Amino acid sequence: MPDIIQLLPDNIANQIAAGEVIQRPASAVKELLENAVDAGADEIRLLINDAGKALIQVIDNGKGMSETDARMAFERHATSKIRNIDDLFRIKTMGFRGEALASIAAVAQVELKTKRKEDDAGVYIEIENSVVKKQEPVAMEQGTSIAMKNLFFNVPARRNFLKSNPSELRHIVDEFIRVAMAFPEIFFSLSSNGQQVFHLEKGSLKQRIVQILGNSYNAKLVAVQEHTDYLNITGFVGKPETAKKTRGDQYFFVNSRFIKSAYLNHAVMNAFNEMIAKDSFPMYTLFIDLDPAQLDINVHPTKQEIKFEDEKIVYAFVQSAVKHALAQFSITPTLDFELDAGIQNLDAVNKPFTDEIKSSAASSSLYQTFTQKNQAHFVERRSDLSFPPRPVKGEMEIFYGEKFPIHQSVQQATTANITMLNFSGDLLQVHNAYIIAQNDKGYLLINQQNAHERVLYERFSNAVAGKPIATQSSLFPSTIELSAGDAVLLNELLPDLHQLGYLLEPFGNNTFVIQGTPADLLQGNEKTALEKMLEQYKHFSNDLKFSRREKLLRSMSLQQSIKSGTSLTQKEMGVLLEELFVCAVPNSTPNGKPTYMSFKKEELDKMFGR
Ligand code: ADP
Ligand code: MG
Repeated sequence: MPDIIQLLPDNIANQIAAGEVIQRPASAVKELLENAVDAGADEIRLLINDAGKALIQVIDNGKGMSETDARMAFERHATSKIRNIDDLFRIKTMGFRGEALASIAAVAQVELKTKRKEDDAGVYIEIENSVVKKQEPVAMEQGTSIAMKNLFFNVPARRNFLKSNPSELRHIVDEFIRVAMAFPEIFFSLSSNGQQVFHLEKGSLKQRIVQILGNSYNAKLVAVQEHTDYLNITGFVGKPETAKKTRGDQYFFVNSRFIKSAYLNHAVMNAFNEMIAKDSFPMYTLFIDLDPAQLDINVHPTKQEIKFEDEKIVYAFVQSAVKHALAQFSITPTLDFELDAGIQNLDAVNKPFTDEIKSSAASSSLYQTFTQKNQAHFVERRSDLSFPPRPVKGEMEIFYGEKFPIHQSVQQATTANITMLNFSGDLLQVHNAYIIAQNDKGYLLINQQNAHERVLYERFSNAVAGKPIATQSSLFPSTIELSAGDAVLLNELLPDLHQLGYLLEPFGNNTFVIQGTPADLLQGNEKTALEKMLEQYKHFSNDLKFSRREKLLRSMSLQQSIKSGTSLTQKEMGVLLEELFVCAVPNSTPNGKPTYMSFKKEELDKMFGR
């Protein structure tokens, strides 16, 4: 028997390898654009014909190649970007595997034109099936143009697998956007069948986002910017109101490389938490930059999945950075906002993230440096902070009056918290609507209604999440009669209302018996409270963004919040502030209105030239 093992000829080996790197026109687009970026171009043009099936051409003004390099570039494992295995952990370029051009040359007809600055003439090379067909000098400017024609002309099975033109073009546009988004300092254009699709002037990231994703994001972007010794997170998230029903405008770049990560996406979603409806998707374009040694980008041929050395830390940082950004946008647009040191010391502000990662993240020295730099505001509430315990009724009334209910824990912790917040002097109410609280760094201006809405919202959310509000049963149950429509509505809400302390029983004919009410509701007010709540709920009910429960929580907190125009005592104001600053998200109402603004004394002094 003869021996049977043979080495594959290069062109066949390349064709097989090409299957991994070049699955469709869009994959070639990605590789060619990345090569142009790596070549230091600041103008990159992409031309497409027939959704890339007939032509994909990338023209750049980068550094170009020498004649020898131009031929070498098409060899498999030919790269100028790494020399040894250690270089893999110092990758600064988009490419490094040296496979793209070899793969492209194996499955298309390629025409390369390239010229370096120092060369008098450029070189033109034609390749087909991995074989050089033609080479000659060419007059041209510095840069490179690579045209690949008739993709998969020699692999009919693959060509048949390609989708319709609109679908392939969509993939191409996606890849184009991913690269263009990552490099706003580079001019990019895309034309398809001679028609210009994108023309992206050089500019800031913000401009690039608006150029690509549309004007609707103009003035609706919140800057994310956190710098730590371990990693930097920069970029933008869309304000909550720009969240869409469809996933799409979401981009992560790690060291300028677009990646897909359900895990990190979760971190962002978590940061938006209740600011957007559960089934809607916020826009984000986030850049995570860290030491390449902390990464393995080599786990996937197209490098869209990467491995972090410590994924949990990255998760924690991303979540925290986005929360911080969202917290800031709802504060003051003009003054540079910083929480005063007292607030930062609050557990609610200082404690990390979700339960699972809490311990590992907190013990990490990386996390310590992060929080030390005061970057981790508005992280989630400690889960062990019992919230909200029921007020003990009698005590509460003696101590605080009854305009709004307060929690036992707050009552007990009052003195301690006040020193932590470092507020000094009396609280001042102005216009019966705002509270001024000062410390030696400056003052907070709190909107009482917004603040109370936040407090109630969190209390009610906790109630429906499993810590029901106690019900006091009515001595003389009253009935409430509703329109047929409202009765249907109320019926839907009964289970959640029960969690919130309302015990209602359908009594037929659109009538309900009120058997019990939340312990802190004044007896006799229950009917009006319910009717107003329903009214408020109906306001929300066209809003498909929110679940029934979410609408209920929002209506109740809106409706029951102390309104502007209500005069408050020192104690009531004190309690309100205490309750506000143990909230998970103290800085805004559920709808994203600010609850307070901060004015630094330093800034005031500056404004007045002191
Ligand atoms: P990789 O990018 O992984 O190095 P490629 O096959 O994509 O592998 O490219 C091979 C080499 O060809 C690159 O390392 C680079 O030196 C050169 N090259 C490719 N495209 C360009 C370009 N547009 N301008 C200058 N050099 C290029
Ligand atoms: Mg490359």
